[in-house]
Amino acid sequence: MVTAIVGANWGDEGKGKITDLLASESDIVIRFQGGANAGHTIINDHGRFALHLMPSGVCHENIVNIIGNGVALDIRKFIKEYNEIKEKGLNPQLLVSDRVQVVMPYHVDFDKFEEERLGGKAFGSTKSGIAPFFSDKYAKIGFQVSELFDEETLKEKINRVLEIKNALLVNLYHKDPINADELLAEMLEQGRLIKPFVTNTQAYLYEAIKEGKKILLEGQLGTMKDPDMGIYPMVTSSSTLAGYGCVGAGIPPYEIKKIVVVTKAYSSAVGGGAFVSEILDEAVAKELRDRGGDKGEYGATTGRPRRVGWFDCVATRYGVRLQGGTDVALTNLDVLGYLDKIPVCTGYEIDGVVTKDFPNPTLLDRCKPVIEYLPSWKGKGEIRGLTEYDKLPKEAQDYVEFIEKEIGVHISIVSTGPVREEIIRR
Ligand code: GDP
Repeated sequence: MVTAIVGANWGDEGKGKITDLLASESDIVIRFQGGANAGHTIINDHGRFALHLMPSGVCHENIVNIIGNGVALDIRKFIKEYNEIKEKGLNPQLLVSDRVQVVMPYHVDFDKFEEERLGGKAFGSTKSGIAPFFSDKYAKIGFQVSELFDEETLKEKINRVLEIKNALLVNLYHKDPINADELLAEMLEQGRLIKPFVTNTQAYLYEAIKEGKKILLEGQLGTMKDPDMGIYPMVTSSSTLAGYGCVGAGIPPYEIKKIVVVTKAYSSAVGGGAFVSEILDEAVAKELRDRGGDKGEYGATTGRPRRVGWFDCVATRYGVRLQGGTDVALTNLDVLGYLDKIPVCTGYEIDGVVTKDFPNPTLLDRCKPVIEYLPSWKGKGEIRGLTEYDKLPKEAQDYVEFIEKEIGVHISIVSTGPVREEIIRR
């Protein structure tokens, strides 16, 4: 039985907590896209783990964790995270697909150089090499991990690829060329480090599915950051959709039986790009930003303030539909109780016409939010930490049910605080 957990919006929906919850009920957890460009923090009896590349099951010794073929694998970062987990006394079970491609040292450099070149028009990349990596994968000059294990063919391919890379480095970015011998030595070493983890995970998963194992596909970011369906070009470079889960993990599409789509009771986004329900009054935004999440809506690694907005029914309905959501998890409901009335974006107005369908990126900048106000549960009791739906104030239940009706998919999980136990199952 395969379940996918994915984001409906711009990322930071609170997937970390829901993933941790679902991972603890799984036999196998798989990362199927993205790379070390996102992060989640897991706090448990063994300590605090800042993980970027590892699947969320690594702190449970009885769960098999898989880096699927769709991931951008930075081997040095993988080994660093693995060693950190081992040092805290855990012995994680990890498998790496023999088809996963490797982030080359120059991908990270090119990411940095290109953002510098773009100056004010930069994408706000995390500079983990993700965009150059995926460009090369589809230009067919990437390296699958298994290619690191044969020195002769690796040497030949490195020489061939460096003709292109060095032409760009010298002529476009005005940097020193890469030395082929040094790169070969580094990649042979990386191959040696990763080899014990590498296996045919597609064959492994085929058997696991036959045996009825509980498998969790873990997505990063959300629908709005998908290269096809999101706010292109302010998107990430690999698909964030559950549908890609079967490609990026190497399983048949019909095996994904449950798709849990996570959304927040308000909106937040990092980086540039269209954000129709954004709060433009800075004082109002700051109040929500400071009250949101665990320690406010600030980037986990960068500390950068996130842009915040009201719940966006148009974007979220679209996001949940494209994910193919069978269930929705609504997080951060506890945050909104300070408001006298709760604004919700229920439509987009484009040149005087109101639509409920999320438009293509060329129209998004012209959209104005249609805001409706719902009654607040202010003064009706603290909802943080509640675990029973019936205990929520009537207005909070009405808010959940309003959103459920707007997005058209059952909200089966409501999160009422950052702690694992602060959760309602409906
Ligand atoms: P992800 O990127 O989608 O995994 O989202 P994060 O893990 O960054 O979640 C954002 C923050 O929200 C984290 O600091 C969580 O601890 C916090 N969080 C998650 N669910 C809730 C909730 O229901 N209420 C509150 N107040 N914080 C939450």
